[in-house]
Amino acid sequence: MPMPIIAIQEILDGKSKGESVTIRGWIHRKRESKQTIFLIVRDASSVIQCTVKRDNPFWTQAKKVTKESPVMIKGTVKQDKRATGGYEIAVERLSIIGLAETFPITKGKGEETEKFLRDNRHLWLRSRRMNWIMRVRSEVLRFIHEFFRKEGFIEVSPPMFISSACEGGATLFGLKYFGKDLYLTQSAQLYLEALIYSLEKVYCVAPSFRAEKSRTIRHLTEYWHVEPEWAFAGMDDLMRVEEDLVSYVCQKTVENCRREMKSLGADTSKLIAVKTPFPRIKYTEAIERLNAKDFKIRWGEDLGFDEEKALAEEFDKPFFIYAYPRQIKAFYCKTYRDNPDLAMSTDMLVPRIGEISTGGVREDDKEELLKRLKEFGLREEDYDWYIDLRRYGTVPHVGFGLGVERLLTWMLDLENIIDAIPFPRTIRRFYP
Ligand code: ATP
Ligand code: MG
Repeated sequence: MPMPIIAIQEILDGKSKGESVTIRGWIHRKRESKQTIFLIVRDASSVIQCTVKRDNPFWTQAKKVTKESPVMIKGTVKQDKRATGGYEIAVERLSIIGLAETFPITKGKGEETEKFLRDNRHLWLRSRRMNWIMRVRSEVLRFIHEFFRKEGFIEVSPPMFISSACEGGATLFGLKYFGKDLYLTQSAQLYLEALIYSLEKVYCVAPSFRAEKSRTIRHLTEYWHVEPEWAFAGMDDLMRVEEDLVSYVCQKTVENCRREMKSLGADTSKLIAVKTPFPRIKYTEAIERLNAKDFKIRWGEDLGFDEEKALAEEFDKPFFIYAYPRQIKAFYCKTYRDNPDLAMSTDMLVPRIGEISTGGVREDDKEELLKRLKEFGLREEDYDWYIDLRRYGTVPHVGFGLGVERLLTWMLDLENIIDAIPFPRTIRRFYP
């Protein structure tokens, strides 16, 4: 009977000391000396050093095998302090599944240029670093789903083709749709609002598209957007769910991704410290704090990246800014009934990145909504179906949007958002 194939990480966990094992993976690196060939083999789980001595009948195979060739190796596990991971395999059988051509990436991050690695992203994804990031990303997504399901939200699937803008036109991608002009969605919000009348509490994790001209460390043109929307709720409910989600994801990720986070050099203590309730400041206070720091921003202006970063430094953890001037928030934002200059809208900010989410109470009164559409110069007929939601059974409701990649960039201390997604799309980059 053939030996079952074992994951390399299981060996490194010390479960097969002295045993004979079979592993399958790719040659990650190769080193040779006169007497020994060291094959560093990688599978999905980890890497391990495999040694072939000169008198081994598989010496010629080991000589021949190239970096990135898939292989199957049978051998005995030995504890060896000199090997990374503390274990190595003394090879007894080596079969080459396919011989790779000379691999273009020879060194890796820090030694080959960022541009070269980005142009070869399809190959760079095999690096340990990208493997760790993608594993954490998968877990973060799992905990996001887990959180909403635990809270009784129903997952829904919104459309990607849309006929009118949600967030205003400047950053919309247009496309031809059987001769008609359509757009790629920027947010599922308006559709989620329709769905709450059936399901009350809904959420989605879906792509959003933004024709962002800005080249920052926090903008992609295609990103994954977590958007919940729910009925019979107000500002306090909104901020509570938002902070519960973020702290749940942080705690669970630290618990479940310790190894990856350590390998990436990410600061786990920062995530462990993410506890509810998060600090909350009003927009007006944010402006006062900024003016005290010599920022020239005036009341009524939107906070830019630099302003957000400066505020976030003061808190050193996630926090909310709320009660923004109505004119800098979208048309669907409800205003405070006792202060119509202010919108019931809130952003969550984190150190170094600034905004990671925007949420708010939606205008549920039909007449107010129509006034707001006019104020923003939007055409009523483009939003007819949306106005129906205020005609038939309108309720107070809230929702927010959180960018998965922004959250990951902060959680993992990534230099740039492009490493938070396997195939990043930016103004310049759409290949591979
Ligand atoms: P910014 O001001 O940073 O461009 P925004 O206010 O336009 O962001 P929202 O419309 O509020 O963004 O979108 C909700 C969330 O989606 C943001 O808080 C952010 O986490 C994420 N997001 C928005 N635009 C992008 C983008 N271009 N790339 C990655 N994530 C984004
Ligand atoms: Mg926003």
